[in-house]
Amino acid sequence: MPHKNATERRNYHKRYMRSYAIEKRARGLCRQYGCANRSDREYCEQHRARQLELNSRARAECYAGYGGKCECCGDSNPMFLTLDHRNDDGAKMRAAGEYATTLYRKLKRLGFPKTFRLLCFNCNCGRYRNGGCCPHEGQFQCASIT
Ligand SMILES: [Zn+2]
Ligand SMILES: [Zn+2]
Ligand SMILES: [Zn+2]
Repeated sequence: MPHKNATERRNYHKRYMRSYAIEKRARGLCRQYGCANRSDREYCEQHRARQLELNSRARAECYAGYGGKCECCGDSNPMFLTLDHRNDDGAKMRAAGEYATTLYRKLKRLGFPKTFRLLCFNCNCGRYRNGGCCPHEGQFQCASIT
């Protein structure tokens, strides 16, 4: 099969799925393919619960892949934990937001690369405000580095 057609078909499918989602949204319906439930959010109650379940499972798997605890202070409460990109603040912010699920899947696929690490919110934010190193290591110790 010619490569061009396969790509075109994939793009067509992508466009179709996107307009399908937008149309369902406009009609106040659940976004899940084949679901006709009304919804005032993106997904109906049933499929929203399913999405949340999938998200938290992907997160738990990813956290476990990174050792399951804060690399700095050892806190293992998943409610405090967050993924930290070692050299990029933008990715750190995105990891906490809506792209998280995509990121968890990607990291799993890549075998949990060491460019990311697990930190608790304290160590993550403290590090950011302290100019690159956690206040656990000494306050304002490296404030001049960044
Ligand atoms: Zn639904
Ligand atoms: Zn910590
Ligand atoms: Zn720390």
